[in-house]
Amino acid sequence: MRIADGARSDVGRGRPENEDSFLVDPEHHLYAVADGMGGHRAGEVASATAIETLMAAYLGGQRVDEAVEAANAAVFAKAAENAAMRGMGTTLTAIAVQDGKAVVGHVGDSRAYLMRDGTVTQVTDDHSLVEQLVREGRLSPEEAQNHPQRAIITRALGIDADVDVDTFRVDLRPGDRLLICSDGLTNMLSDDTIAQTLRRHADPQQAADTLVDMANQAGGDDNITVILLDALSDGGERAAMTAAEPEAEPSLENSGAAPLDEDTEARPGGRGFRSLVLWGLPILAVVGIAIGAVGWYARRTYYVGLSGDRVTLFKGVPGGLLGWEPTVDHETDLTAADLTEAARADLESGHRFASRSDANDFLERLQEAHEALGGSTTTTTTAVPGEPPPLGETPASTEPTR
Ligand code: MN
Repeated sequence: MRIADGARSDVGRGRPENEDSFLVDPEHHLYAVADGMGGHRAGEVASATAIETLMAAYLGGQRVDEAVEAANAAVFAKAAENAAMRGMGTTLTAIAVQDGKAVVGHVGDSRAYLMRDGTVTQVTDDHSLVEQLVREGRLSPEEAQNHPQRAIITRALGIDADVDVDTFRVDLRPGDRLLICSDGLTNMLSDDTIAQTLRRHADPQQAADTLVDMANQAGGDDNITVILLDALSDGGERAAMTAAEPEAEPSLENSGAAPLDEDTEARPGGRGFRSLVLWGLPILAVVGIAIGAVGWYARRTYYVGLSGDRVTLFKGVPGGLLGWEPTVDHETDLTAADLTEAARADLESGHRFASRSDANDFLERLQEAHEALGGSTTTTTTAVPGEPPPLGETPASTEPTR
């Protein structure tokens, strides 16, 4: 099986910098999109670090999910070492194609889609608050499409020392087409529009270019990155060549035989970085201290608010701060209905705390007050499928800025 690819990354119309990074490595059949966050410099560092580490780990013989874990560790370590990058994070959606199978490793809200026989389906699940509410039946997909809290993600690389990596496997057939993209595409274009465009353009590069152009025409609010992979059957001659050259497609087990070292760039046509496209590396050295300080502040504070109707502890600042979006620390069993009116009003704008333990003390007092009023825990799971909570009950939020 041969893979034809097309790719494009664009800053879009709403952002000064491109914080997305991507990888197209046709030699090793490794492809990935990373969407960085954490201030306009640290976001680029996070996504570029994730892509670099993913590639090195995969070529070093690790499985895709292990390589994504390695990328997490690298971003987390870099954030911990450098005050200016504290709190940075990134999504990562990676696909390795081998022996006719596409293995997907995924964290965050970038996406992979599969088009087969003209039908387009989303392979990955978004790790975002809004998509979680949809899966739980608390929001409809229509409400999710333009939800003000779309940008809050519940899982990312670089936030914790460990990360849960989703993996998916697609047994490819000739004619299949895979799309990997950042949310700058999917927040601008509906799934239907994306599907139509994928059907209309047979050439993968032309399809990638068209998708990016259309996302820009729709507003281009965010950075847009698109990778297209077409699974093609080998022609007779081509098949014979492949059979004679088993090394043409490195396997997960043996691809790491040669370590990544200085020799890699020297070898013509070898395991070089020629196909590695990174954004933002030149600015690694000029990360602003002020931006780091804001990020440090935004990431180390907590607030208690409502996600849907559920009382939730968030890490960050309500509504985000200069691109530092809050993330969910954990949801409690309490719902808005369990609160007094005053407490509800307090949480709707987000009650802030300097530390996690202060916030947890507050949550304990809320729980005690609820129990003292005769509330029982059986009243806490009142979400009725098909009757999602009104959007107005979610915490105040500014426009998504990630
Ligand atoms: Mn994005």
